[in-house]
Amino acid sequence: MTMRRIVVVGNGIAGLTACDSLRSTGFDGELTVVGAERHQPYSRPALSKALLHGDDDLQAHELPQPTHDATELLGVSASGLDVDARVVRLDGGGELPYDGLVIASGSRAKRLAPLDGAAAPQRGGTRGQLPSRELTLRTIEDAVLLKELVASRPSVIVIGGGPLGMEVASGCLHMGCEVTLVSDVTPLSRQLGVHLAGIFTSAAIRRGLKVGGGGRARLAGSDGGRRVVLADGTELEADLVVTAIGDEPNVEWLAGSGLLNNGSLRVDSRGRLRPDIVAAGDVAFFPTLRGVQRIPLWTSAIDQAKAAAVGLLQGDAAPGFTFQPYFWTEGFGLALKAVGFTPVVGKPDYCEAGEGTDSLLLRWEHQDGSGTAAAINYRIPIPKLRRLANAGPEVLQRTVAAGV
Ligand SMILES: Cc1cc2nc3c(=O)[nH]c(=O)nc-3n(C[C@H](O)[C@H](O)[C@H](O)COP(=O)(O)OP(=O)(O)OC[C@H]3O[C@@H](n4cnc5c(N)ncnc54)[C@H](O)[C@@H]3O)c2cc1C
Repeated sequence: MTMRRIVVVGNGIAGLTACDSLRSTGFDGELTVVGAERHQPYSRPALSKALLHGDDDLQAHELPQPTHDATELLGVSASGLDVDARVVRLDGGGELPYDGLVIASGSRAKRLAPLDGAAAPQRGGTRGQLPSRELTLRTIEDAVLLKELVASRPSVIVIGGGPLGMEVASGCLHMGCEVTLVSDVTPLSRQLGVHLAGIFTSAAIRRGLKVGGGGRARLAGSDGGRRVVLADGTELEADLVVTAIGDEPNVEWLAGSGLLNNGSLRVDSRGRLRPDIVAAGDVAFFPTLRGVQRIPLWTSAIDQAKAAAVGLLQGDAAPGFTFQPYFWTEGFGLALKAVGFTPVVGKPDYCEAGEGTDSLLLRWEHQDGSGTAAAINYRIPIPKLRRLANAGPEVLQRTVAAGV
């Protein structure tokens, strides 16, 4: 069918990229984007990096102004979907009819305590006004609040040893806070593997991070609070507790639409749920070389959204989506870039030391023949890192020598 009206739900990087890609693929009809946040799309990765690192640069998260010429309904949520009538229902009434729909509603921070709205964290720069409930970091508002709170150098417990927890811990440490990271496994080992996790954890401990855990931690009391109980019963207390225990997809508005499969959205290799509905970004599970997965990363959202836009307009004629993860993180004086699937197992099969301490270029070969390349404090453009991941060191050296 000819698409004259396309609605995009979600105005994060996946929604923005989908709008841009629809236009660059030739869609010149009516485009409407619905975004629950009141802001233009911004960089979430910047929130846990630049925004927590002491300077007053609150622009680090900004992205260029959109040029897709869509009608933007910001501060508006989609509350329902009727796939037969082809309408998106909006919070507070109103409906948006569509010929094509892009679902890009992303995810939100998982919490240890339920968010009942009764005691949501409030601003307050002094110790006496510190919130007595769990903080999370997902939105620009969360980042501004956290930055304000850590300015008075409170003691902080961060629960969650993934990349986000480690970045928050690094930022708080940098701001002069005493920080304890609570993690049930070696921090970052689940995401990156033991070798890379060890490099980061050693650097973190050298910089003064206390690491504890050894099992599932919980908050003392039912409403969150500043006390944390470890798996062995030990109780820790701090001025602030920040949890970074993962994310959960924003799919509630799709209840009853018939699109959810055991509560999740599973798209095909062209991002499609149906010929007229695609999904992309943190909200979606998609086929990868390692099975159907949700990969809640920035470049994953961008690559999926590009494929989904073409999938919506061109159907079976669209090229299938092949995905290679790209991931980066910063903290404790280290900057890591990695191309390929992680976690990596065992020691790297290739290791080159660069200039300066902690400067490393590493590669792992996987059983399926694919590779993962990682650069720590090592200057290398992403395309070259990709070539190292895909082709190995000899080919990389030849192409670099040839200036390719
Ligand atoms: C602090 C932080 C640091 C990160 N750092 C990194 C990093 O270093 N590297 C990396 O690769 N990734 C990182 N990520 C992950 C990365 O930011 C996400 O994978 C990416 O932002 C996902 O984009 P998205 O558009 O799919 O979802 P989102 O960014 O979640 O955007 C979805 C948007 O849809 C809106 N929405 C939800 N429901 C509705 C509804 N019903 N109606 C209308 N709008 C709705 C949401 O409010 C949101 O604005 C980080 C994430 C965070 C939070």
